[in-house]
Amino acid sequence: MKQENNGLWVSWNENITYNYKSLYKITSEKELQEVVCNSEKVRFFGTKQSSADIASGIETLIDITTYNEIISFNDSERTISVQSGVILGDLLEAIESKGWCIPCLPDINTITIGGALATGTHGTSGKLLSEYISKCRIVLADGTIKEITKDDELIDAFKVSLGVLGVMSVITFQCEPIYTLHVKEGPEDDQLWLSKIGERLKKHDFLRILWLPHTDKGYVITGDKIDPENAVQENMGPKYLKHRRAASKILYKYTHIFPWFTAIANKLLYRGFFSTTKEHKGSLYQATVTKSRGSTIELAEWTIGLDIFPTVFQELKTEINKWSNKSFIHIPMDVRFVYKDTSWLSYAYGKDTVTMGCVSRNAATADTYEAFKSIEKIFLKYGGRPHWGKRFTAKDAELSKVYEKWEDFKLLRKKLDPTNKFLNPYLLELLNEKETTNAIT
Ligand SMILES: Cc1cc2nc3c(=O)[nH]c(=O)nc-3n(C[C@H](O)[C@H](O)[C@H](O)COP(=O)(O)OP(=O)(O)OC[C@H]3O[C@@H](n4cnc5c(N)ncnc54)[C@H](O)[C@@H]3O)c2cc1C
Repeated sequence: MKQENNGLWVSWNENITYNYKSLYKITSEKELQEVVCNSEKVRFFGTKQSSADIASGIETLIDITTYNEIISFNDSERTISVQSGVILGDLLEAIESKGWCIPCLPDINTITIGGALATGTHGTSGKLLSEYISKCRIVLADGTIKEITKDDELIDAFKVSLGVLGVMSVITFQCEPIYTLHVKEGPEDDQLWLSKIGERLKKHDFLRILWLPHTDKGYVITGDKIDPENAVQENMGPKYLKHRRAASKILYKYTHIFPWFTAIANKLLYRGFFSTTKEHKGSLYQATVTKSRGSTIELAEWTIGLDIFPTVFQELKTEINKWSNKSFIHIPMDVRFVYKDTSWLSYAYGKDTVTMGCVSRNAATADTYEAFKSIEKIFLKYGGRPHWGKRFTAKDAELSKVYEKWEDFKLLRKKLDPTNKFLNPYLLELLNEKETTNAIT
């Protein structure tokens, strides 16, 4: 295994940096066990694309991206087993070549499997990625291996666990047969798309709404499963649409100084990039997941029960449209739907959920982006849950109110990691734990 000493760890968008003493690039489970076992404190990271400060901040780090083999396929069970540093896009290409899919995908393919699972990464019209785990090998704080299968009662604790119960080593995913989606996209007035959510969730296999703050519009994307041979009227809109992110970047360049200009920029972006329709077909991965982004961003995301989403949405919209409020929000706010599950730290634990993203296209000035604060206040008021990999300030006191299994999770963590080996300063505060002085028992 390669080791680097005394370097600087920098997150994807350069918003988080730390000095480290030792960084290990592991390539096998044995190396992973060795480093975990021999370190007093250790943290591990994938492609560093989380906005939350959860992946580093400790003197000893493990880079998981070099632990990236696809290990095996089981054709009769339709499963694939991979090392946790495999990039999501590589896993998806591999299963597509088998005629399989994972039926709910995030809008990013460059993240690692370990990072995606740890933070509860999700797509829309389905479940969190972690709900498709059928088996997992985990390196515990003492360096031993725990194997968990979908029938194990603790799987619900491990599936979304922020990398604080152990390091996911090898993961087996249960796949489904691949299908083709007929995708239609187009703008709609807020009152219309909001009133049609229930009906559309029943009617379509895929539903995502890119809400366009300060325009009274949403951009609705629906997908219906079709026979792959069915012809569709391909229409990808004007060629210049591909410059949307670059145009946004320019228009939002000074919105940290003049936040109100965001409202004007959004109207221009709506006219230029969201006022036409599109129609196409493809697999879920090929037709709906963004494959490249020209620049970095800073993200927050909150989730709320499907039943009270319209109330929360109206309050949010009223709040940000007040001119006394500096919460002008960059386009788009991504509205997606995640179905209820049983994972303790899942956003959808016990209820069907709507997730609402919030983006700052100026990653460097994200600290001044009032929208992150306003959104957190409104969502928390209604019992909303933050995305673990994105920006939020809520801690133990607030989280214990919105996660029914929060205390159970904390107890289990303490049992598995009594010296807080896996907790960096951010996680210590999040979980309301104190640094242990004598870290090796
Ligand atoms: C442009 C962009 C688009 C995004 N789109 C979506 C989306 O559509 N849906 C969504 O839900 N999220 C989305 N995210 C969030 C993203 O999926 C998460 O932040 C994810 O954790 C990033 O993966 P990573 O490999 O960069 O992990 P890192 O940021 O490197 O690590 C995240 C966490 O995972 C832990 N970890 C890493 N490897 C392991 C392991 N093997 N075992 C245990 N813990 C581990 C780390 O310690 C850390 O706590 C997006 C983020 C960006 C930047």
